[in-house]
Amino acid sequence: MSDFPTRIDYAQALEIITRVGAARRPSSQRLAIQRVDGRVLAQAVTAEFPLPPFDNSRMDGFAVRSADLSADAPTTLTLVGEQFAGLDVGLVLQPGQCARITTGAPLPAGADAVVMKENAARDGDLVTVPAGIRAGHDIRRAGEDVQAGTQVLDAGQVLTPARISLAAALGQADLAISPKPTVAVFSTGDELAEPGMPLQPGQIYDSNRDLLMGLLRQLGLEPVAWPRLPDDPQRVETALRDAAGAFDVVITAGGVSAGEKDLLPGLLQAHGEVHFWKVRMKPGMPVLFGALDQALMLGLPGNPVSVLATFLALGRPLLDALQGRAEPRPRFTARLASDWNKPHERLEFLRGRLRSSEDGVLLVEPNPAEASHQLRGAADSDALIVLDAGERAYAAGTPVTVLPY
Ligand code: AMP
Ligand code: MG
Repeated sequence: MSDFPTRIDYAQALEIITRVGAARRPSSQRLAIQRVDGRVLAQAVTAEFPLPPFDNSRMDGFAVRSADLSADAPTTLTLVGEQFAGLDVGLVLQPGQCARITTGAPLPAGADAVVMKENAARDGDLVTVPAGIRAGHDIRRAGEDVQAGTQVLDAGQVLTPARISLAAALGQADLAISPKPTVAVFSTGDELAEPGMPLQPGQIYDSNRDLLMGLLRQLGLEPVAWPRLPDDPQRVETALRDAAGAFDVVITAGGVSAGEKDLLPGLLQAHGEVHFWKVRMKPGMPVLFGALDQALMLGLPGNPVSVLATFLALGRPLLDALQGRAEPRPRFTARLASDWNKPHERLEFLRGRLRSSEDGVLLVEPNPAEASHQLRGAADSDALIVLDAGERAYAAGTPVTVLPY
């Protein structure tokens, strides 16, 4: 008996994932600015004062009063002091006077222009400056970068080094950020063996665990790999319920199809909640999304290429929604570098390699290894090519959406 959405469109699955993820978003925490790298900002940052905070020099040279200077002949001024970058020493320039100044130093009172060192001639206390220097020359005005009261960073933005630097320039010692979801990773299947151990007949090495761990770490998360699960209902139930009591998200690989040993959909129906099971996409159709105890559960089909595609198509948006990330992940439009024929009408996330043509057009070369067990094709590629539902024949040159990975 199923009273959950099944065999849904990808767009609908994405909508459910995003909505459920956003609703589960924990409240923000404040973190020292030294530790916010790559995190999602949870509260906007507004400038309490302008940047630059005060008028200052753009050059090393001499602060002058433009009214003293001639438009068509050099002028000689008297040097009365120096103002370096640092504390304002309170210099005041009277008519006919100038002061040494360095880049970033506050402008002495009375000064309204700077003459760079290289354009001035100093002889003891006398400095001769060229004609034609106007008010404002080589001065950086207060507020020219940011005016007081401006919102400079928005909630949902990812904290890049440049954004962190901007917050630091505004004196912020800590920022409100979204906590990182904790994630438990399981691979499942009686056939799986640990890389490094001898293979028994019928066994294959577990390649999904490290794929998922890598994909999650690339998002800046610190996933925990749990011991591999055999296809044993009792052990699967015990382990998943343990993890679901302790983690925000549980991601599994394998065991979600309709086979006899595919235990996860039944487990969620019996002990948790199913938000959807099966999405009309290739690879990865049997993907399962639900909740168990306090955790959200994402069950990815076991073929490694399905894990890659469903993680990027659904897992990453879930983790982004949980962190309130408002900035979309990069997706580009590229032209197919060769013809491609889809033997079906489903939405497909095909693997391909990006390059740009000599005249600056982004091209993507589809990888012919299109089956979901063909991990080599995924390893040789660097992007998913989104081939929409409905279409079958694609001519070289057709624009397609690509998701780099
Ligand atoms: P399942 O989704 O459990 O039916 O698995 C689908 C296919 O993926 C089967 O051929 C499995 O052997 C394979 N598979 C499942 N889990 C893994 C894994 N961790 N590493 C490599 N292949 C796997
Ligand atoms: Mg299996």
